[in-house]
Amino acid sequence: MMISRSMQEQLAGNSTIRLMFAEGKEMAKKVGADHVYDFSIGNPNVPAPKEVNEAIKAVVDEVDSVYLHGYMANEGYPETRKAVADDLNRRYGTDYDESNIIMTTGAAGGLNIVLKTLLDEGDEVITFKPYFLEYKKYASNYGASLVPVATDSRTFLPDMEALRAAINERTRAVIINTPHNPTGVIYGEDTLKALAAVLEEESKRIGRPIVLISDEPYRELCYDGMSQPWVASFYKDTIVCYSFSKSLSLPGERIGYCVVPDELCEHEDIFACMGIANRTLGMLNAPGIMQKAIERCLDIDISENVRIYDNNRKLLYGILKDAGFKAVYPSGAFYIWIRTPEGYTDAEFCDICKKHYVLVVPGASFEGPGNMRAAYCVSEKTIRDSKPAWEAIAKEVGLR
Ligand code: PLP
Repeated sequence: MMISRSMQEQLAGNSTIRLMFAEGKEMAKKVGADHVYDFSIGNPNVPAPKEVNEAIKAVVDEVDSVYLHGYMANEGYPETRKAVADDLNRRYGTDYDESNIIMTTGAAGGLNIVLKTLLDEGDEVITFKPYFLEYKKYASNYGASLVPVATDSRTFLPDMEALRAAINERTRAVIINTPHNPTGVIYGEDTLKALAAVLEEESKRIGRPIVLISDEPYRELCYDGMSQPWVASFYKDTIVCYSFSKSLSLPGERIGYCVVPDELCEHEDIFACMGIANRTLGMLNAPGIMQKAIERCLDIDISENVRIYDNNRKLLYGILKDAGFKAVYPSGAFYIWIRTPEGYTDAEFCDICKKHYVLVVPGASFEGPGNMRAAYCVSEKTIRDSKPAWEAIAKEVGLR
């Protein structure tokens, strides 16, 4: 076999979500797209704000072509990084400049340059269950392992004692994701303070800082008047990974950034290594056109996008509740975490859903068995039209 052992493993367990996405397309060919209710993938249905397309066109017209399309510093254009820093300072009262910002190929690219910088073979990275399963692969890219830790079974907030118990001399980092995929939970001030206290104590105990990696692609997608507190203001050894994939509906464009605060231990070397990692992992830098376009779009109003997701959230949650399902009422992101009805495995329940042309992702895809994830970044019509299918599923599994 030509393929490496690690890739053979990945081939065997290829992403369920991606496979479902493909299955949905096949179903649509068979029965018509209007009769398939695909809640499988977190691909925003809301188009990118018009200002983004305008900015892309203007950038191509206005920016010197050699500068725009050329090689650049691995961290990205200095003026883009300065604009990002200024925007954060305005919004969160921070004091960043371009030396704190690295432009990345989305949050995935950001997470990978952070992990490449921090991890040696045999190291451990902690995260909280359920979680975005790619974290496991990202850690293994660098010979490290992911250690998933329990959350409170009702709130899905981190179990601090379980966290403490999981930390040992090999622990290099803790990844959190807020607002959260797949539960929609937001980590508020109390949670962040408690988390910071544990990390400070445990860093002292093991004799080196544990880095908190805050994965924030859903940062602005908060509902019911809630907002995401600035995570790095609670714990000094924090690196933030942000993405425009969800907030500006640009997942195919691969654009985001990392924040490396001055307060972070060894921040100058870490910053330098993250730039090097951008290069040596083969990404070199975030796409030039998108960096320059983003520079012009940092303060555009996305409240209409948030309103659309909020409306979808209430609608789908209401349909699920009325049909008899138990689910977490999400505060942020665009996912609902639904309890698998009693007496069924996730796979069985998922198959029943498929029979009714409803696609949801089994909890195992997030190491959260006993649950399903439905992504509501779909059209309102899809949600409304799916109501009879959810009712039929509920009837079939004895909820009605
Ligand atoms: N982190 C989480 C929690 C996500 O849900 C996703 C994408 O769905 C990512 C990271 C990757 O996002 P990006 O498209 O910015 O790489």
